[in-house]
Amino acid sequence: MVFQPGYWLIRARLSRLVLAPLFALLLYGGCYSYMRAGSHLTHSSVHVRGYFRRDGSYVRPYTRRPSGGVPHDAPNENTMLYTGLLSFASFLGLAIVVGRFLRAKDSDLLPSLRITSQLPPPPKFHFAPTARGTSPRATWCRECAAQIRAGDTVAFRTSKRGYPYTARAICLPCAARICRKRAGRIRAYEGWEALRDEEAQRVRALRTAHFKKHFGTTAEPPTFLA
Ligand SMILES: [Zn+2]
Repeated sequence: MVFQPGYWLIRARLSRLVLAPLFALLLYGGCYSYMRAGSHLTHSSVHVRGYFRRDGSYVRPYTRRPSGGVPHDAPNENTMLYTGLLSFASFLGLAIVVGRFLRAKDSDLLPSLRITSQLPPPPKFHFAPTARGTSPRATWCRECAAQIRAGDTVAFRTSKRGYPYTARAICLPCAARICRKRAGRIRAYEGWEALRDEEAQRVRALRTAHFKKHFGTTAEPPTFLA
């Protein structure tokens, strides 16, 4: 991919690389203060041998700081906690900014583009009768309530396994009407698909323009076009 000379400058601006020196400074200061506070901690420690308490319980051997060590160390330990957190956070910030500058895809560096869809929901399909057969008994059409005698040809839907839903039998004129309706729905769906393609083209054009606005080129990274 060929880019114009200012490409890395643009990337630097979009990835907020200007923050990198600030993070680096905070990282340096944090580490420095951390180590300085650490050097002020009490050095020597006292070893305490294991012993039995008066109630008979045993206290295992341990080391403790010399007397006065705990109050002396407390402020330094506080400083170490906060400067440690500061160092960690600024390291993270530095890594994110520099990592984005070096590695992120061009399209991921762009400010997010809010695109509202103008696409209506797709039309729903009508359940149409899928099979014909003779009614085993007298019943009525579930659509128009017309009489159906035993032996009349009726339309019905079949289950996924192929068993007929004879209880939902409908007369042939109703079946034809529903099938016409369904054909209309299918045409409507095709119209909706055309709308959807138009919408996709519109979004593509918007994104390309957005990319060009920031990078000064229409060279599109292949990934950002859905
Ligand atoms: Zn009917």
